[in-house]
Amino acid sequence: MSDCLFCKIIAGDIPSKQVYEDDHLVVFHDIAPKAPTHVLVVPRKHIATLNDADNSDHDLFGHIALTIPKIAKQLGLTDGYRTVLNTDKGGGQEVFHIHFHILGGGPMPFA
Ligand code: AMP
Ligand code: ZN
Repeated sequence: MSDCLFCKIIAGDIPSKQVYEDDHLVVFHDIAPKAPTHVLVVPRKHIATLNDADNSDHDLFGHIALTIPKIAKQLGLTDGYRTVLNTDKGGGQEVFHIHFHILGGGPMPFA
C-alpha cells in the first residue's frame, strides 16, 4: 500500500524507533506515547483492520499473540502491560494498517 504510513515505516522510508523485528512483524515506539512504554506491533503484511483479516492470517495472529510477551519482557514490563487493538473509526483506529498497542511501565489506566 503506497499511501500507508506503517507500510512506509516497515519499508524504512519513514524513520521509527524500532525495538523488534522478525519475518512477520515490526515493533516500534509510538510517536505520541500514552504510557511510559508504548510500542506498536505491526505485521509486515498490510491488513487495514481486524475486519479485513481472513483465514490465511490465522498463523500470523497466533504469532503475534505469542510474540507480544517476548517483546514486553524485552522492554522490561515485568509486572504486566495492556494490549490494545482499535478497529475502524468507531473503535478509535487512526492508522489503517492493523497494529497492536503494548502499553505499560506506569500507573494504570492507559488509553
Ligand atoms: P490507532 O489509533 O490504534 O490507529 O493508533 C495509531 C497510533 O499510531 C497512535 O497511537 C499514533 O500516536 C501512532 N503514530 C502515528 N504516526 C506515527 C509514526 N510516524 N510513528 C509511530 N507511531 C505513530
Ligand atoms: Zn500498510
